[in-house]
Amino acid sequence: MNLTVKEIAEVLGGSQDSTQMITNVEFDSRKIIPNSLFVPLKGTLDGHQFAEQAKENGAVATLWSEDISKAPEGLFVFSVSDTKKAFQKLASYYRKRVAPKVVAITGSNGKTTTKDMTEAVLAQKYQTYKTQGNYNNDLGLPYTILHMPETTEVLVLEMGMDHAGDLTLLSQIGKPDAAAITLIGEAHIESLGSRSGIAKGKMEITAGLKKDGILFIPADEPLLQPLVSSLSQKIVTFGLTEGTVQAKVLKTTKESTEFAIGEQNFLIPVIGRYNVKNALVAYSFGHYFGLSDDEIATGLKNFQLTKDRTQWSKAFNGADILSDVYNANPTAMGLVLDSFAELPLPGRKIIVLADMLELGNDSRQMHMQMAQHITDAFAEVYLFGPEMNALYHSLKDKRDHIYYFAHENKKELIETIKKDIQPQDSLLLKGSNGMGLAEVITALQKK
Ligand code: ATP
Ligand code: MG
Repeated sequence: MNLTVKEIAEVLGGSQDSTQMITNVEFDSRKIIPNSLFVPLKGTLDGHQFAEQAKENGAVATLWSEDISKAPEGLFVFSVSDTKKAFQKLASYYRKRVAPKVVAITGSNGKTTTKDMTEAVLAQKYQTYKTQGNYNNDLGLPYTILHMPETTEVLVLEMGMDHAGDLTLLSQIGKPDAAAITLIGEAHIESLGSRSGIAKGKMEITAGLKKDGILFIPADEPLLQPLVSSLSQKIVTFGLTEGTVQAKVLKTTKESTEFAIGEQNFLIPVIGRYNVKNALVAYSFGHYFGLSDDEIATGLKNFQLTKDRTQWSKAFNGADILSDVYNANPTAMGLVLDSFAELPLPGRKIIVLADMLELGNDSRQMHMQMAQHITDAFAEVYLFGPEMNALYHSLKDKRDHIYYFAHENKKELIETIKKDIQPQDSLLLKGSNGMGLAEVITALQKK
């Protein structure tokens, strides 16, 4: 970023009129580099107590919502009533000043993947900047905006949501020209009540959407249809079997998926039909911003998945491990299981499934529904964690080679799998981050 002290003061209502340049902003004092603005936030700890450290690391200015006499000497101090709100206000200002076209992506799953695909596509023609990693909330989004280079032509923002109202704020800060909802799933159903509540929540992405903008939505989601009918913006639907923009899957391999949109063929370096849907969104944005099919194809071919989302690695004995342990909910788990079942692989397919967390009252029911995805395609089935117990009991009399491990028996789970697997096998591990499957994978990789 590039803001003068005077500019920041004008935005936040201060009187400093120095031309000193501020080129970075951080709320973690350890990340401060010279010429940064420090933003002390109030969480479990109060960030104000780290202002001195921020100064030592090179901060030249700080926001401040405490007694001003306690602020470190020698810094430009911007007195505000709420540092987080001031940070968001500054982001709104900087977005307006740099004035890139803005793309906003939300949805229960696939946001980060779609964001990365979209940026890879748009980078074929524009100077782009995107949400780094998963910085998609009321802090991550302003952080992203304030870190975009001044030369950015298109800014691709991931917008996450835990509660009603979250996306309204993010959309109003980001003011997108074009937006997409990847899908309505069950993530955060605990706080939003129902899938219909989730659909309403996702629609908040239109709160700041330009009046002449565009919104891409999945064609196979009936809950969204009535909600978009009153919008002034253009609505375009996408899907694999229905919708205005459609893709036909041509070929899946261990590393890639080929599909066609109309006459043009595309390849993405990832597995899963659901990723073709994500690519459809990226395609739609590319098309909207004037890219040719060839440019879009090049972008998609070269995109890289953010860490821990369906990644291949090798077990200690050479067996293949497909890990998808970053998060989990029924939609995603069902889709990953179907994709894995479909892959042409040489040896046995083994699945290791751990609990999906935060599913609310229907959690057990949703775990049990995974039964329909656990077919004969899988030679061995390992279930891990308390919620998976119900699924185990509903399946154990119907098939062989199914094993259950309680949460406290992670060691036994690892040892049993290690004894079981052969070099030709492929293992899929899927579960919520909090279940610690990442640890299981690390153990499987080591002798
Ligand atoms: P978060 O809410 O944590 O930010 P996200 O929405 O950014 O998640 P990704 O990180 O892109 O989602 O993908 C996480 C997992 O969701 C993937 O590994 C995959 O299992 C699943 N997934 C990705 N895209 C889709 C999709 N279009 N439909 C259903 N599941 C998907
Ligand atoms: Mg994400």
